[in-house]
Amino acid sequence: MTVDMDKIVALCKRRGFIFQNSEIYGGLNGFWDYGPLGTDLKRNVRNVWWEDMIGRHDNIDAPAGAPSRFDMVGVETTIIMHPQVWKCSGHYDLFVDKMVDCRECKGRFREDHMAAIPCPNKPSKMVGQHDKCQLTEPRDFNLMFKTIIGALGTEEDAAFLRPETAQGIFVNFKNVCDSTRVKLPLGICQVGKSFRNEITPRNFTFRSREFEQMEIEFFCRPDESQQWYQYWRDRRFNWYINLGLDKAKLQMREHPAEELAHYSCGTADIEYAFPFMSAGEYGELEGVAHRGDFDLRSHMEGKLKNENGELVVEMNADGQPKHRGSGKDLSYFDDATRERFIPHVIEPSAGADRATLAFICEAYAEDEAPDDKGKMQTRTLMKFHPRLAPVKAAVFPLLKKDGHPEKAKEIYRALKDAGIAVQYDEQAAIGKRYRRQDEIGTPWCLTIDGDTLTDGTVTLRDRDTLEQVRLPANEVVDEISRRLRG
Ligand code: ATP
Repeated sequence: MTVDMDKIVALCKRRGFIFQNSEIYGGLNGFWDYGPLGTDLKRNVRNVWWEDMIGRHDNIDAPAGAPSRFDMVGVETTIIMHPQVWKCSGHYDLFVDKMVDCRECKGRFREDHMAAIPCPNKPSKMVGQHDKCQLTEPRDFNLMFKTIIGALGTEEDAAFLRPETAQGIFVNFKNVCDSTRVKLPLGICQVGKSFRNEITPRNFTFRSREFEQMEIEFFCRPDESQQWYQYWRDRRFNWYINLGLDKAKLQMREHPAEELAHYSCGTADIEYAFPFMSAGEYGELEGVAHRGDFDLRSHMEGKLKNENGELVVEMNADGQPKHRGSGKDLSYFDDATRERFIPHVIEPSAGADRATLAFICEAYAEDEAPDDKGKMQTRTLMKFHPRLAPVKAAVFPLLKKDGHPEKAKEIYRALKDAGIAVQYDEQAAIGKRYRRQDEIGTPWCLTIDGDTLTDGTVTLRDRDTLEQVRLPANEVVDEISRRLRG
């Protein structure tokens, strides 16, 4: 089935997954709000990531495919950090996109995206392809949002909203090692908001100006870093497949040497064929990068770019580095080998909003299903993986009388008490209630009818197969919990 992005966007609005930010004021380009169901869906994406990376991580033995055992811990750091962080990380000098303006249509475009952006002039062509287009030379545009700390508001007080959560991890590497009993290999994880003043935000939430990242900085011995790089590429790729993304729509794109940052010995993007992309095109879900010792070393020593745009340590006349590092020793002492070294870092950096959007696009489906009179009708459903589905089960009394609602409410409350996201619905014909749940991706519906009151069983209906089975009402909580555990 070819998926129509307009239908997905419309469903997201209609059923309360995603809204345009500040919509009653005409919206703000590049900013999106999540409605009640979208909030639960995105929270599930975040929670499942956290559970799979940290909560369920076994740090006693090596997990399947891993070179050895390792630790995984979490941190939560602030959005605004010391301005020196961004100078030493390279973002202050180098976190730029090339921007091009058109004097004719007054549009502003990211140079490397122009070939895919339609020019507002008719007949429809891409930016720069009309004779009338008057494009300026590309200029550097720094993507960091600037703000001011304190009341005086001078340039001295300028600070930045973080464009990635990673730096909060690097600057706390020593704190984490000193305050816990973790040892290398060690992953430090963080989920949080990041901000980028994107020149051309587009494709729904795919490229937003405010978004959320789920990042791991994995610190290891330099001589083991290649093995860990392979491990994380494969593990993160499989994570998306296990949560329902179609393998045929996913690709691992290994960056060619000329695309790599000078400090990196490997970067692979995990990409998904979003429905808004043309055939053969993919959009990045996550980057897995081998970053060497670049980040920790930069925060020790300081950085500046030279005339070739390469980051080097440049000395001021007073013999100090221009972008001064912290001067703190961020090396690691390996008790087992009695060696001291600066750890190498593997960084799997995922976007929570992009992952959520991919799960939404993958879940959208239409098929034919019988209505209340047995007539086949087109049905829209969201085939979310049960771990991600915002609502796991819905409980319906067949009738609004004869003791059905009382029994249905009892089952609803038992599911609630077990911590399972459940809805109760007694409005409209049963077929209509099923459709409402199908459209928001509820995997299982439970119907209470006359038989429930005599033999104590209920009907459990599966969203995808439409299969209906009867089971004892007092086994519903166990059965749904078992199915959720997979
Ligand atoms: P792109 O090339 O698409 O701009 P990037 O390579 O700059 O992305 P990274 O810096 O590697 O992205 O960020 C890691 C992840 O954060 C991305 O894989 C993506 O999931 C997410 N991300 C980055 N920028 C945005 C954005 N503007 N909106 C939503 N998610 C984003």
